[in-house]
Amino acid sequence: MSASDDRKGAPNGADAHRSNVEALYQELILDHYRRPRNRGKLEHPDVALRKKNPLCGDVIDLQLQFDGDTLREVRFTGEGCAISQASASMLTQRLKGKSKAEAAEIMDHFTRMVHGEGGGPDESLGDLRALAGVARLPVRHPCALLAWDALAEALGSHR
Ligand code: ZN
Repeated sequence: MSASDDRKGAPNGADAHRSNVEALYQELILDHYRRPRNRGKLEHPDVALRKKNPLCGDVIDLQLQFDGDTLREVRFTGEGCAISQASASMLTQRLKGKSKAEAAEIMDHFTRMVHGEGGGPDESLGDLRALAGVARLPVRHPCALLAWDALAEALGSHR
């Protein structure tokens, strides 16, 4: 029995699958970091907020424009680590066109995923599921949640 035969077992296959998924997620995070979606400023935002994460030096400026109850435009600018910027980019991609109630629900799912609560990444999160690994890195939680802190405050301030 050689070592290579041992590697064909089911548990190792599952490990290989998991590391493939993690590699894919890593790619997705870097893709959003290098080519941020909805990056820029709005001419007439309804709400504009800046949030900083002094632990890591991350800054996010989030701008929202509403059409009634709908998030018509969601833009951001910022600087900092890949997790903070990718999370902001994914947020804008995911929430553009959503109602405030839908946005709040996605925010709730995402926050629980980052904190490692609930039954794992939710389908409704789309690309945001790539950040599931942050649950194991408490020091990076503020990075992943920075744009969402801005969103929570923005939704609360717009009535
Ligand atoms: Zn950071």
